[in-house]
Amino acid sequence: MKENIFVTKSLMPPFEAYVEEIKDLWDSCMLTNMGEKHQRLQGELETFLKVPSLELVVNGHFALELALESLEKKSKENTNGQVITSPFTFISTTNAIVRSGFTPVFCDVNPVDFTIDVTKIESLITEDTVAILPIHVYGNVCDVEKIQSIGKKYDIPVIYDAAHSFGVEVDGRGIGSFGDISCFSFHATKVFHTVEGGAVCVNDPIYLDKIQALRNFGYYQAEGVQEIGGNGKMNEFSAAMGLCNLKYMDEVTKKRKKVYECYESLLKNKGFRLNPTQDKVKRNYAYFPLIVEAGDAKRELIFRALQEEGIFTRKYFYPLPQKLDVYKGKYLGETPVAQRLSESVLCLPLYPDLSLDDVERMCGIILNTK
Ligand SMILES: *Cc1c(COP(=O)(O)O)cnc(C)c1O
Repeated sequence: MKENIFVTKSLMPPFEAYVEEIKDLWDSCMLTNMGEKHQRLQGELETFLKVPSLELVVNGHFALELALESLEKKSKENTNGQVITSPFTFISTTNAIVRSGFTPVFCDVNPVDFTIDVTKIESLITEDTVAILPIHVYGNVCDVEKIQSIGKKYDIPVIYDAAHSFGVEVDGRGIGSFGDISCFSFHATKVFHTVEGGAVCVNDPIYLDKIQALRNFGYYQAEGVQEIGGNGKMNEFSAAMGLCNLKYMDEVTKKRKKVYECYESLLKNKGFRLNPTQDKVKRNYAYFPLIVEAGDAKRELIFRALQEEGIFTRKYFYPLPQKLDVYKGKYLGETPVAQRLSESVLCLPLYPDLSLDDVERMCGIILNTK
């Protein structure tokens, strides 16, 4: 009996290394509130990710909410501020916008790299637009230059959902350094993790104090509470996991690359569309999305054929938020390209220790599904 294969598998550092890392917590009894490990991880991540300033938080979703709540122009008269975003993403992105009191305005994605279609952003900008929130989906880099110039032209801040793009670089520049703010997720299923966790990269320092305060009940240093903040502090056990995992990131990327390229060589020119390569981009091989051009029915056949063999793929991202009961009919934005993608995409298993034999076996099943 073969073992089941899931779409991802959490990275585990050597057990002894983790135990060694957490040992001194039994002496210090300092388990949270921006402790020693928290501070060390923050510094190491700023260096690794090549970002000017990074704040650790409890999860990637909270990072997005913090970023949105730090915006000054919360709303114009009698309206919720609008945030232009794309729907081809994990539901967290849309939920964060709505939970922060804003109205999402859905912009379509481009069919090449599945990120926000920059030719369609400007027509969606109104008096009430308070931010643009694009997603580096699957670690594919948005058209950061164009988005920056739009943000500048209309004086609208840009917040990136960089949850998929840990370690990605553009021409040697860290992906988290783009936009006014970029948010990472360090969830157990992501390329790098702290069990649960995330980070807000604050590239425009005007947001820094407020984000730090909102993370800690609204406290500004010892001056008392000036914001209605929540509790988003990363604890020391999570930070310790991050410190251990970070040591393996280069090795992890190399292994992921091997798996990714094996899929690519077996599936290219076989009637599927694959994730593109992008110029000057150092990638992280986080996901292997397979676009089944034939559409939903064929995708379902492949999904089931793999499942029968104990292989569990994911329809990332299906359904789109606009199709969910909680959002249906509520928000603006026609997104036919995203809709088509969501009906044809299947993310295949991808993690560092996935064997190439298993990749070959999975590709065999996919190619034999008629
Ligand atoms: C994982 C993810 C999030 C949420 O991160 P958590 O750490 O799970 O809260 C947000 N956006 C995208 C695109 C994600 O993939």
